[in-house]
Amino acid sequence: MKSVSCIFCKIINRELDAQIVYEDELTLAFRDIAPAAPHHLLVIPKAHISTINEADNTHQALLGHMLLVAKRLAQDENIAEKGYRLVMNCNSQGGQTVFHIHLHVIGGRNMHWPPG
Ligand code: 5GP
Repeated sequence: MKSVSCIFCKIINRELDAQIVYEDELTLAFRDIAPAAPHHLLVIPKAHISTINEADNTHQALLGHMLLVAKRLAQDENIAEKGYRLVMNCNSQGGQTVFHIHLHVIGGRNMHWPPG
């Protein structure tokens, strides 16, 4: 189910432009509009799930698939060997600003821990 007001659903429907780097029947991946590192991609499900809190057992394969897509994209971007970070923020205190779940794939520089 798509959400008409969701910007990531609009990117899926090609109503909003994005630099799409990967697509399959379950997911879409595109470059973040405000990259936090030299490589910053977002992997999203085509199904509208607003936060990871809304995910349930029916999404298990989809969530696993998103991780494998992220790994493949890190390889495609040539950041897999040096290392990269996968992040999914949840709700306001977790730093989520777009309420359609997405996996950040961030790399190309040294990461810090703990995150801010
Ligand atoms: P969040 O803060 O929800 O974890 O991450 C949302 C991400 O989406 C941010 O890194 C932000 O830069 C990115 N973003 C927000 N709006 C757009 C957009 O219209 N296009 C693209 N490509 N990225 C967006």
